[in-house]
Amino acid sequence: MFGKPELSIIVPIFNEEGNLQELYSRLAAVLKRQNLSYEIIMVDDGSTDRSLAKIHELSRQDGAVKAISFSRNFGHMIALSAGLDHATGEVVITLDADLQHPPELIPELVKRWKSGAEIVSTVRTETKRGGRFKDLTARCFYWLINKIARLDLPANAADYRLLDKKVVVTLKNIRERSRFLRGLIGWVGYKQEFIPYQADPRFSGRTKYSLGKMVSFAIDGITSFSAVPLRLSAYLGLAIAFFSFLYILYAIYVRIFTSQAIAGWTSVLVVVLFIGGVQLIFLGIIGEYLSRVFEETKERPLYIIREKSGF
Ligand code: UDP
Ligand code: MG
Repeated sequence: MFGKPELSIIVPIFNEEGNLQELYSRLAAVLKRQNLSYEIIMVDDGSTDRSLAKIHELSRQDGAVKAISFSRNFGHMIALSAGLDHATGEVVITLDADLQHPPELIPELVKRWKSGAEIVSTVRTETKRGGRFKDLTARCFYWLINKIARLDLPANAADYRLLDKKVVVTLKNIRERSRFLRGLIGWVGYKQEFIPYQADPRFSGRTKYSLGKMVSFAIDGITSFSAVPLRLSAYLGLAIAFFSFLYILYAIYVRIFTSQAIAGWTSVLVVVLFIGGVQLIFLGIIGEYLSRVFEETKERPLYIIREKSGF
């Protein structure tokens, strides 16, 4: 296939050997019915299973399949960014490799784009992945980030979306390291439409988002879109100072007008421990932001590519 493709599909892949054949078959079936030339960019995010070999096999069968392979695991968001950097289509669609994002939705995404949308995001209507915990934590997270970061992200937003080339070019120019793509999409503007869809259960394997990865994803999201946590320390400091002042008045009153001074071992302990705890929490928050400044100033590349093929 020569010339620039019209549609670029980007798939981030971390140990998904069991999903790739099925994913490719369903993708190809849908894409061949579309009247568009296409490329499928498979980004291997440092898989340790046979994912990369499988990608090469698909690439040999179909020239539209292109491979990018990282030198190690850099994370889902970075894998998506590498795909965006290499996409040459007029329009780009990103979707997960585990078939939770049904490829059969692609014609609808493309239809919206043809009628003028620049970003078409998908929103899960029902989660069939059986994770009540994940559901609840996701809802809390989106409530919080929308409150403090002046974003308006839907709670069930998925990283299954269509981006016009204009948006891709904009995103390519944003090189910050802790990238919370959903937030950036909300931040860049453009004409966005939403499509509801039913997420399927994972086809094979298990989730690649461990609890640790989820927590760091949430912290990245909040700290890269809001400085409110930093300001919290000032508010809390004021509140504590106010109550301490009242307590000082009380202590003086007790000392002068009563005979029961010194008895306050408990209150001293409580105050000392409380203030100590609050200080540690805010040192931690300041550390979070500081570490991000540190990461950004190093200006290391976002990712390291071991090999590329098909481009
Ligand atoms: N993924 C990745 N790098 C990672 C973690 C995940 O490229 O470090 C990919 C993964 O292979 C999948 C997508 O990101 O295609 C979403 O991951 P997953 O399905 O495990 O997340 P969940 O749907 O459980 O939130
Ligand atoms: Mg998944």
